Amino acid sequence: MNELHYQLDLLKAMNQKLTAKEKMYQMICDASDCAYLYFSFEKNELITMGKWREFFGFDIRDLKDIPQVFDMVEESGIMPLRDVFFLEKKGEESTVLECRHRSEKRWYAFRAMVDYDSLGNPLDKLVVVENVTKMKLQRDELVYMAHYDFMTGLYNRNYFITILGEYINRAREENSIVSVMVIDIDDFKKINDGMGMVAGDEVIQGFGMFLKEFEDGNVIVCHLNHDVYCIAVYNPSGARSVEQIHKAIQGRTKEPFFLSGGLQAGITVSIGVAEYPEAASTALELINCAEIVMFRCKSMGKNSIQYFDTPILHDFLNNIEMENKLKEAVFNSNFILYFQPQYYTDTKKLRGVEALIRWRDDNGHMISPDVFIPVAEKNGCIVPIGSWVVEQSIRSYSLWRQKYGIPFTVSINISAVQYGRDEFVDELLQAIHKYQVEPREIEIEITESILIDDFDRVTAKLKRLREIGIRVSLDDFGTGFSSLAYLKRLPIDTLKIDKSFIDTVLTDGATRIITEAIINMVKSLGIKSIAEGVEEEDQFRYLQSVGCDIIQGYLLGHPQPSDKIEELLQEMLRG
Ligand code: C2E
Ligand code: CA
Ligand code: CA
Repeated sequence: MNELHYQLDLLKAMNQKLTAKEKMYQMICDASDCAYLYFSFEKNELITMGKWREFFGFDIRDLKDIPQVFDMVEESGIMPLRDVFFLEKKGEESTVLECRHRSEKRWYAFRAMVDYDSLGNPLDKLVVVENVTKMKLQRDELVYMAHYDFMTGLYNRNYFITILGEYINRAREENSIVSVMVIDIDDFKKINDGMGMVAGDEVIQGFGMFLKEFEDGNVIVCHLNHDVYCIAVYNPSGARSVEQIHKAIQGRTKEPFFLSGGLQAGITVSIGVAEYPEAASTALELINCAEIVMFRCKSMGKNSIQYFDTPILHDFLNNIEMENKLKEAVFNSNFILYFQPQYYTDTKKLRGVEALIRWRDDNGHMISPDVFIPVAEKNGCIVPIGSWVVEQSIRSYSLWRQKYGIPFTVSINISAVQYGRDEFVDELLQAIHKYQVEPREIEIEITESILIDDFDRVTAKLKRLREIGIRVSLDDFGTGFSSLAYLKRLPIDTLKIDKSFIDTVLTDGATRIITEAIINMVKSLGIKSIAEGVEEEDQFRYLQSVGCDIIQGYLLGHPQPSDKIEELLQEMLRG
């Protein structure tokens, strides 16, 4: 009997110990963030623990109920999940499987473990389920950040380069081509300055969204930076050809972008195109080549498309070489000024001279300003060069004025970059005071390119100059977006009709009509007209007959060094 008591006590104690252990496991399971499914093959017993109910909303009592879990995950996850839950059937190692909930944005990671006896029969099985939604979202965000540009949702530069590299490798194997288009919004600064950064961002996003529509398995679009996009097309053809994409872009840019606050913005774009294998053989080189031709578009008046060809690359490399030489020239002051006389049409008397810069390079060659001024404008050298021209031309005039006592006008070409600087007017005034000349004897020649900045700001400066008495001349009229309409609003004294008009004015009826319209229009506004590049007597007589005020050109005098101008003044004194 005692023995029986003893056995009973022992069993009780063991039971207690067991329930205590069970309780402990239960607590551990509940405290963990996982759900567990335990199955004992011996007892044919199935228990779910931990967060099971929270994750799935139901309990499972029998192996037959397990497919309920499969119904909860996305279709593609069902088969692999079956393998995890019935791992013992395949006798494989446990792996982790991530599945997405069928209807909610939740992800679970499933992992199974099976314990076997010495004969290989399964004894126990445990399936652990973890909610990995947070981790998955963070991981997705990292992947997104690595591949996409936040502002536009387009691919970013790095990822684009990777995919473009893959396109190129494929094209190498398949003997195919890859086109790269670099697309830059023209005068984007105007939108940003004029309508604000928010509007600017909206335009970048809107145009980006439009470009995204071209994407397919063989076309990828990226936001390269700021207002520049890049498209790569594998094996371009049909609707996926550069021409068709360009056409679609042209169609889109004809319509405005509607922005918040009821604003509207119209844009044009410049596009550079380069192709593998013709232009380059790596992703970066290909993008570079397309960028180079895109810049060529910009310099040729924007709103157009340019295809890469070797001369453009050579030009570009020459430009770089020239840029370096130019910087040296600024340092060594290797510039000289020439002056070209201008004459009144009616009296044939000297009206003034235009100062024209020349660069004498190390070999003594004269380099034309048409070649180096655009480079100087790009690399900033134009600022010291421009200041030098202002100072030297006013100084020369001051010397002539003192020596010969003949007053006339000195016209100085001012580039848009120079004009846009805050110090510009003050520097001009300083030179005028320093050399004691009259402001009205100084004329600045500007081109329409200065109007790229805010119109009101530009004209406010012009007004200030004219109040001081300095004359303002609009150069190269007829070559830019010249419109007779805005002339009325532009405070200028003189207008220079571009040489291209004079060249054909005697042979082309339309040019003649426009030229006469310009002359009459400016006359009615109280503006003087100058004809540039007059080379022939007939042109002179014609311009005289239609009332053009002033003539400049080889017919009456080439640009010449200052000693030649002195000879001219001496002759005038002699009468
Ligand atoms: P531009 O201001 O239109 O100057 C007139 C150009 O036409 C000058 O070329 C002049 O030599 C040339 N020219 C004048 N008459 C005739 C003619 O009858 N026939 C022909 N074929 N050409 C004629 P240049 O000196 O080579 O200057 C070219 C351009 O470089 C200038 O065009 C101007 O835009 C720019 N430039 C010249 N000097 C300066 C300067 O000091 N500063 C800036 N920013 N630009 C300058
Ligand atoms: Ca000029
Ligand atoms: Ca001109």
